[in-house]
Amino acid sequence: MKYYDKLIFELSKKGRTAYSLPKVTLPCRMEKELDESLARTEPLELPEVSEVDVVRHYTALSQMNFGVDTGFYPLGSCTMKYNPKINEEIAAMQSFAALHPLQPKETTEGAERVIAELDAALAAITGMRHFTFKPCAGAHGELTGLMIIREYHLSRGDMKRTKIIVPDSAHGTNPASAAACGLEIVEAKSNADGLVDVEDLRPLLDDTIAGIMMTNPNTLGLFEKDICRIATLVHEAGGLLYYDGANMNPLLGKVRPGDMGFDVMHLNLHKTFSTPHGGGGPGSGPVGVCEKLVPFLGVNTSGYHGNFGVMLRAYAYILMLGRENVKLAGPLAVLNANYIKESLKHKYKLPITSVCKHEFVFDGLINDGAKEGVAGATTLDVAKRLLDYGFHAPTIYFPLLFHQALMIEPTETESKETLDDFIAVMEQIADEAAQDANILHEAPHATPISRPDETTAARNPILHY
Ligand SMILES: *Cc1c(COP(=O)(O)O)cnc(C)c1O
Repeated sequence: MKYYDKLIFELSKKGRTAYSLPKVTLPCRMEKELDESLARTEPLELPEVSEVDVVRHYTALSQMNFGVDTGFYPLGSCTMKYNPKINEEIAAMQSFAALHPLQPKETTEGAERVIAELDAALAAITGMRHFTFKPCAGAHGELTGLMIIREYHLSRGDMKRTKIIVPDSAHGTNPASAAACGLEIVEAKSNADGLVDVEDLRPLLDDTIAGIMMTNPNTLGLFEKDICRIATLVHEAGGLLYYDGANMNPLLGKVRPGDMGFDVMHLNLHKTFSTPHGGGGPGSGPVGVCEKLVPFLGVNTSGYHGNFGVMLRAYAYILMLGRENVKLAGPLAVLNANYIKESLKHKYKLPITSVCKHEFVFDGLINDGAKEGVAGATTLDVAKRLLDYGFHAPTIYFPLLFHQALMIEPTETESKETLDDFIAVMEQIADEAAQDANILHEAPHATPISRPDETTAARNPILHY
């Protein structure tokens, strides 16, 4: 029997317990008669199980999940890197974890100093002047940054700037945040090399443009090499440049958004600066600005500083790496991504062949095994089959530029052996598809559930027994 095959209620046996307490010999003074209306009429229905059953039940449930601590997790645009355990220890230290936001200021000097030093470190890494740590996620940072841009224009009496340019390769949160901020989105097209087309951009730049949101390297893992020209054009048109720094990995200590001409940016401390993430939190999306936008940043002086535990992990991570080693993260992330890309391009379609940064995109299989009466294997099939081999799937069907997008980001923390295992499995899956695509259509075969209807599972989840 597998412990996750049954609910804990189904394991229950009358009278079985997971604890043993000594008999109470002292008279109990706390006892008080409850008001009749509040008293339970029937005993509470709880599962009655032994301690070992409880342990096995929850351990089995925890093993149904996949995390960076259990295996390779090459989820593009998510930077699922290994998170050093010392960061967890530091974040859990009572002197930090027990802080209360309303504590008197003179008792929180340590925390204030962490924030000031993290601000200085991130400013040095990004070329921004100051950061606010209040935003609790990347998308939250985007909204904050866009509101800063809007306030900047309004403060100058420049009321017409209601549009924001967002490239078609952008992360989905970019247009969503812009819409939430009340800005009209103007799409900038990518050219055949996957980069923002400067010629396409030029006519969009007029006095109704508040700015442009960019990711560099973009979500195809490509460095926008025209960024300085783009910055000049946008600034000449009176707009500001917003940098989505969720995945700063490849640039850490090498290139600074501030030097590229960006005025406002956010970082995802969860992702680039350690902290396990996925499933929606906890996160931290601090927003940094250039000198002239500092007055719009708000103040970091009240007690409410955002997700302080995530900030502590980032602080510990940066101090642990130090000025020199922080520069290694980028080249290693880039090397790992290019190694996988070059090793698999004979089996998977590679729409953009240039050297990538920390991530890259395949467009499905070269030989998907489509035959008379048998549909070819899709990117979804490959992703599902990977689970059978103990790997988390890459990001699929994003970015939207390709029909069968498979976006791989190995990060800098994986060994060559792990990458080689992954490459071997990806090759094997490609061979399986070429021989009999049906094996892939029905995958995964080895997981507790195979293919739920994802829409129904999300919209109508059945969470009770
Ligand atoms: C993850 C990510 C975001 C959004 O961050 P959240 O913390 O999930 O809100 C934005 N942009 C890019 C490029 C990302 O990878």
